[in-house]
Amino acid sequence: MSKTANPASVAPLTREEIVRSLVTGERRFHEIPKTLPAEEAAEIRRQALAEMTSTPLANIGHHSLDVQRASHRNCENFIGVAQIPMGVVGPLRVRGKHADGDFWVPLATTEAALVASTNRGCTALREAGGAVVRIEDVGMTRAPVFRTSGIVQTQAFLQWIQDHEEEIRDLAEGTSRYLKLLEVRPYTFGTTVFLRFRFDTGDAMGMNMATIACDRVVNELIEPATGVPCIGLSGNYCVDKKPAAINWQEGRGKRIYAEILLDAPILHHILKTDARSLVEVQYRKNLLGSIAAGSMGYNAHYANVLAAFFIATGQDPAHVVEGSMGITCIESRGPDSVFASIFMPDVPLGAVGGGTSLDTQREALAMLGVSPDPERRGEAVTRLAEILGAVVLAGELSLMAAFTSNDLARAHEKLGRGEIPNRLPT
Ligand code: NAP
Repeated sequence: MSKTANPASVAPLTREEIVRSLVTGERRFHEIPKTLPAEEAAEIRRQALAEMTSTPLANIGHHSLDVQRASHRNCENFIGVAQIPMGVVGPLRVRGKHADGDFWVPLATTEAALVASTNRGCTALREAGGAVVRIEDVGMTRAPVFRTSGIVQTQAFLQWIQDHEEEIRDLAEGTSRYLKLLEVRPYTFGTTVFLRFRFDTGDAMGMNMATIACDRVVNELIEPATGVPCIGLSGNYCVDKKPAAINWQEGRGKRIYAEILLDAPILHHILKTDARSLVEVQYRKNLLGSIAAGSMGYNAHYANVLAAFFIATGQDPAHVVEGSMGITCIESRGPDSVFASIFMPDVPLGAVGGGTSLDTQREALAMLGVSPDPERRGEAVTRLAEILGAVVLAGELSLMAAFTSNDLARAHEKLGRGEIPNRLPT
């Protein structure tokens, strides 16, 4: 039985005593003695939770994670993992600047038919020569919000910001080896001023980096020098983790463009559709339906492929709400061909940092050949974004085609609700 020091009384506590203190509420989950190894702390939390909720937690506790790292870098009150099935699609042929070739793409999802359908889209793209993909690195934004006394102070404040841009830049860039300040753009509404900072964050998605840099600049420079109080480091004009017009217009993270020309044999034999039907479903569903619904996603399902790709590769899944915005275009070309494209204005993405350091996510990134090199700043994340653009296009085309042939419900019924084959006796 392991013993550990009780910080209050300095008396050793047994594991059972710690469990009991959690169950009775005398101690909270984050108050397990820091001297215990992270794995043991997780076991203690599970044991207490199992008792408190009458639920055995054998599966949540069954994993290969580096608990020390995950519980300090990724998730507090660590108890284990939620497992999500991971499938693979490909080869996905990508014609990008940093991803040029064929890729096997991991997708983590619980939605039956998603992987199968996206895989069909990959076949179509491959047969058509590969998706052409280009990325604009817009940068990561953070917009602290300030309160002034009125127009006169607002003008003086904005003038000060303009006059001290170099100082602001030096302080911000001193917080990270990889962060570059691109701009500080002010927006004023009454006595409220937002300073929308935009940073190049190298191969990282950069939300922590941007927040840390803004915190330093606001608290050490702007507030003391101007006397204008900052009401919130994030003023929701950034805009993080919400679908928003400003991100749509100005972009955030990566702006992704991908396109392909599909001829009649590919449409008929692989996607089981034809040009006219695809163009019509694009117009009536993705455009008119989205306009009528007031949606900001003029597409069939970017969010589906994005979520599966994000979870597999260690991105922040909450950013799917931003990445779900965008427009799919399908134009008729020649007698029975289409030119299809996707546009995603707001995709926060990283090849380092956040969840990308977890073991399974690192393996997934390695499969894609994504590995940051300090000498080639931003190339790894651009490669990742190019692969993402192509796989989203694959998923989009396959689903759009399924609508035209009424295959959507059939595929979900067959794959999501079909018989589970018996295991062979071992
Ligand atoms: P991060 O893990 O906080 O920072 C990235 C780290 O990677 C930095 O320490 C950076 O070095 C280092 N790094 C090494 N090689 C790099 C390279 N080639 N390019 C860029 N950086 C490199 O990650 P982040 O991307 O800033 O933030 C992602 C995390 O923020 C996710 O976990 C996400 O869930 C979370 N998040 C935070 C907020 C927030 O408001 N704070 C909001 C949304 C999401 P340096 O040490 O030199 O900087």
